[in-house]
Amino acid sequence: MERCDYGEAECDNSDLGCNWEGILRDKDNHKNSCEFEDASQIVDDLQRRCEKTEIVNIVLKRRLENALRELEQKKTELQSAANEILRIRVEAASLRDYVYVQRTTLPPRQQAQQTTLPPRQVQQTTRPQHHFPSSQHSEAKQAEGCTIS
Ligand SMILES: [Zn+2]
Repeated sequence: MERCDYGEAECDNSDLGCNWEGILRDKDNHKNSCEFEDASQIVDDLQRRCEKTEIVNIVLKRRLENALRELEQKKTELQSAANEILRIRVEAASLRDYVYVQRTTLPPRQQAQQTTLPPRQVQQTTRPQHHFPSSQHSEAKQAEGCTIS
């Protein structure tokens, strides 16, 4: 298609805000004096830098994902190591208890049982009281197993 020098044209920097409209023949002339031309070069430069940054971002994202994956793996390893340490500590504690029991003549459990046994008098006073007429009193007491007359 043949280019018409008198065809309608607008500035290449119209998307940056230049409102110039004219004919194709004058377009190059306008470009030399267009106030948006410097801005256009800046925008082109920024676009190139932006594209480079996007590529760098993709590379960094991949590295970050790999690092996170490694970190998760290390975390799992640390957790199982911590569980192993806990298991060994419990085992060591039970061994220490075993050694303590072997060393002492009276195990701590028996001492505890002796001191917590309630006195016999307390049990007797808490028994339910029965009221009988005085004539039947000793007979009823004997039936219950009372030895006091
Ligand atoms: Zn322009």
